[in-house]
Amino acid sequence: MSKTKYIFVTGGVSSSLGKGIISASLAKLLQSRGLNVTIQKLDPYINIDPGTLNPYEHGECYVTSDGAETDLDLGHYERFLNVETSQANNVTTGRIYQTVIDKERKGDFLGKTVQVIPHITDEIKRRIKLLGETNDFDIIITEIGGTVGDIESLPYIESVRQLRWELGKVNSLVIHLTLVPYLSAAKELKTKPTQHSVKTLMESGINADILVCRTEHEISDDIKNKLALFCNVDVDSVIQSKDASTIYDVPLMMEKEKLDQVVLKKLQISNYNPTDMDSWTEFVNKLKYPKSKVNIGLVGKYVELQDSYKSILESIVHAGSVNETEVVVHSIHSEHIDEKVDELILKLDGLIVAPGFGSRGIEGKINSIRIARENNIPFFGICLGMQMAVIEFSRNVLNLKNSNSTEMDENTLYPVISLMEDQKNITNMGGSMRLGSWDCDIKKNSKANSIYNAKLIKERHRHRWELNNTYLEELEKAGLKASGINSSTGLVEIVELPENDWFIGVQFHPEYKSTVENPHPLFVSFISACLNYNKSKK
Ligand code: GLN
Repeated sequence: MSKTKYIFVTGGVSSSLGKGIISASLAKLLQSRGLNVTIQKLDPYINIDPGTLNPYEHGECYVTSDGAETDLDLGHYERFLNVETSQANNVTTGRIYQTVIDKERKGDFLGKTVQVIPHITDEIKRRIKLLGETNDFDIIITEIGGTVGDIESLPYIESVRQLRWELGKVNSLVIHLTLVPYLSAAKELKTKPTQHSVKTLMESGINADILVCRTEHEISDDIKNKLALFCNVDVDSVIQSKDASTIYDVPLMMEKEKLDQVVLKKLQISNYNPTDMDSWTEFVNKLKYPKSKVNIGLVGKYVELQDSYKSILESIVHAGSVNETEVVVHSIHSEHIDEKVDELILKLDGLIVAPGFGSRGIEGKINSIRIARENNIPFFGICLGMQMAVIEFSRNVLNLKNSNSTEMDENTLYPVISLMEDQKNITNMGGSMRLGSWDCDIKKNSKANSIYNAKLIKERHRHRWELNNTYLEELEKAGLKASGINSSTGLVEIVELPENDWFIGVQFHPEYKSTVENPHPLFVSFISACLNYNKSKK
């Protein structure tokens, strides 16, 4: 196919309808037909990226290989497509304005008044087309964050209107994701909210080509006809998206609803294969019909929010499917770890200590790691979780009383976790951590080596503090082995306790690389260790 085609996905009626999952599901179906597809997310907030956003505000910050701190939807794109995304796949209003203002300061606008239209919209269009210019993709799906009618989305909607005009009908289309609510008092599905949001879109000069309707109940042909008639769409373009028990069902549901076929027809694409969703279906079946069950704990300070540890939870789902095991995740708030929780941890088959920032809840994390270490419960520490494992070991095995990370206690006597020199003078918080993909050499005869079955791996990072190598010899002598090291910096990337059956801490974030096609080996091995531990208790 010569020319890149563009699909725009907008949302109406309500937020959280799952534009990211619908975009990723459509992309998956098109990819399985042999087309090269990527997805881009446009976020209407003014932050340059979500890196400085609190997880309470915006959920997890996802990190790409090229070190971009991005929206968590990019995680879904990678998990579904098994294709890496990059900085170009996530654009925010902040980034758009920053580029335009920088140009203005350089005098690039030659005395013109700089305005939302055309300067901001031109920059939005340039960013949308950037991925297309690589010629790597047959189709680019662009998801517009927010809900139609939001003031802050207006420049994006206007850019889509202009682009549709420029690209022409067969090279672009708009999918509008909407809600068809069920009123239990009337026992009826209601179409009016959808009619209104389609109308709002029309007021901005955009006709939706396809409606994807989130619903709790089956949408009858009558309702489809009504929506088609009132919203100016073909009746085969009213697609039902019923609530699913797992997000991984959505591509299969969209295949049944023929969303991909409608898209191919409208974009006049003819050189495609039949869908091939066999391995995906196998993955979903293993997930839905597990043969065993384990209970694991996830210790963190944002555990009440599903979205804060999105990639970790999805990596656990992937690993559960590989092991044909239902993994029940017990959220343990690190600030509420007391004797009652100690008992709970002792009943678990495995423990994950989550990444994080700041001192809130760290004593709970350290305590829970001690329980896991002393009782040989499989333990997996990620980023801050690894740092806490090093502190726990230093305090309780090396007897370095009150040892700590300088992030939590600047004046600690034993700074076993400390800042790298190049991080010490940083004043700008945005985009200045150790980010993105870094090499890690794995030591022979280590657990990490047998899990990865490789000498050199690459994993993604997002942190400032590191294991302080001044203490490395002492730690190793006492039994905590550094089994992964970045050879150019000497920084420790993986620690493990050979004495325990499965006790591993990693300075990086393996959860960013787990996909349906390639579940992450560390998570797969961890869940398998939890299974073994569970069996050994019986
Ligand atoms: N706060 C720690 C650091 O910056 C850990 C970060 C994390 O867990 N992502 O090093």
